[in-house]
Amino acid sequence: MQIALVSLSSCLGCQAVFLGMEEYLYAIIGENRISFAPFIMDNREVAPVDLALVEGTVRHAGHFMRAREVREKAERVVALGTCACFGGVQGLADRFAEDTMLRRRFGDAAWEGAPAGVKRLLPLDSFIKVDYFLPGCPPTQDLLRKFLEAALAGAQPQREETTVCAECRVVSPGIPQPGPRRTTEAPPERGKCLMEAGYACMGPLTRDGCGALCPTLMGLPCRGCRGPSDRALLDPHVDMREETVRRLARATDSKAGEVESAVNDPVHAFYMFCLAEPALRRRRPEGSSPFVQRLGER
Ligand code: SF4
Ligand code: SF4
Ligand code: SF4
Repeated sequence: MQIALVSLSSCLGCQAVFLGMEEYLYAIIGENRISFAPFIMDNREVAPVDLALVEGTVRHAGHFMRAREVREKAERVVALGTCACFGGVQGLADRFAEDTMLRRRFGDAAWEGAPAGVKRLLPLDSFIKVDYFLPGCPPTQDLLRKFLEAALAGAQPQREETTVCAECRVVSPGIPQPGPRRTTEAPPERGKCLMEAGYACMGPLTRDGCGALCPTLMGLPCRGCRGPSDRALLDPHVDMREETVRRLARATDSKAGEVESAVNDPVHAFYMFCLAEPALRRRRPEGSSPFVQRLGER
């Protein structure tokens, strides 16, 4: 099979995972051919390929042209990583107007000749048809390897359908707990459920697949880097913020308002990797901009 590795606006982290797979990567190269990968090869145009792995977001007109070219040349397109699937951390930039964002990043530099920007960040499938989604920031090697084994064999890669909680191996600390609190204020106790211990853990609303890396192995709350679970994404009655606040209030025997005021940056706390996801934006009749403002524009 011919494979393309494409980066739009990205940190290259997802590609780095692919290139870091060592023995498995050699096995892939042995039977397949990477025919487009500007990160490691001197390429300009995408050649016709069977599988294109596309990381990052469409941030300006050049990315859009590249995405369209990939769709024309590739049999199957994979949105690789949470940026491509849900907008990822890049969606947080939507809290600023484009002018403000550019000024904050580049100062008062002259803009003549710069590619036209995209007013609002959107996931890859808002621009082109996507055949498979592999979220994660970045996806773990294990997830990527399993995905590629299926995709390169022509099979339908398996999709995870439960949440991080389903994979998490912690026990209840017993409720109520003091809080809500932040990990910088009081280090969490390893092996205990972070949410029940009063920390905002996005595990109940985040898709599984990472092995609950943060809560189980590091004793830290899940920040949602695998993106919203199917329930969070598809059930119009689920509001990630309200549900997390409700859970925290129950765990700490607090009122919802007390939890709300204790969370000083709700966007980061509840929507760090999915603020750009249209399925969540559409859920609000007032539209996306007031939604972001309601969450606390900065
Ligand atoms: S998903 Fe994460 S690792 Fe991948 S490009 Fe986006 S920010 Fe980088
Ligand atoms: S620590 Fe987080 S991910 Fe683990 S069970 Fe508790 S809420 Fe779920
Ligand atoms: S536990 Fe959450 S934040 Fe950590 S790797 Fe898994 S999905 Fe990402």
